[in-house]
Amino acid sequence: MPEFKTHLAAGAAVGGAAAAWGMMSHDLNLVHAVAVAVLGTTGGLLPNLDSDSGKPLSLMFQLISILLPVLLLPYAWPYIRLYIRPGSGKDIPFFLCYYTVSYLLIHYGIMPVVKRFTKHRGMMHSLPFAVVAGEAAFLLLRPSGMTTAIYGGLAVMSACLVHLILDDLASASLGNSLKMKGPHLAGTLAVYAMMVGLGIEVTVRLLPVFRPFLKKILDL
Ligand SMILES: [Zn+2]
Repeated sequence: MPEFKTHLAAGAAVGGAAAAWGMMSHDLNLVHAVAVAVLGTTGGLLPNLDSDSGKPLSLMFQLISILLPVLLLPYAWPYIRLYIRPGSGKDIPFFLCYYTVSYLLIHYGIMPVVKRFTKHRGMMHSLPFAVVAGEAAFLLLRPSGMTTAIYGGLAVMSACLVHLILDDLASASLGNSLKMKGPHLAGTLAVYAMMVGLGIEVTVRLLPVFRPFLKKILDL
């Protein structure tokens, strides 16, 4: 099995390549390009969230405890605003509470559930999971602009795929990680349900990008 450092380097290479491509071909600004590179690097580590122990796992949860609340803030803010004093906004006390609560929720709520219900090299090491990760990254980045969301989604999905390929190359038999189904039917169905659900949402959001091409094809 490749080491944590190998997956980290591969994820950074994929994320960096996606960021550079975005900067050169679609004028992605430096800050957004760095965000794409960071998410790509995280994508390269993501499938190993199903490991049950080890320093790399706790390091990944620390990373996710920072990145996930940041990515969820545009979606969470309209609901949070209902419960805070009218007129008060995103000030330092707000961020202090928001990140503390998020950290505790991820660390003591989500992390034990992921550890309990995932099996190493289960459905988190599969092709549909790589698609789910890419779709989720696209939707979480969508409030930051379509270009950033597309490059971020592609970076995360490609980095996950590279992780699976590296795992398979290092293992005795191919198909351990690059697979379509896991050992348990419930887990397999859950990942496919997420892939279809998020896929519909992604397709709806991407329609404005594809509309001019579709129009051209239909007008021919
Ligand atoms: Zn792995």
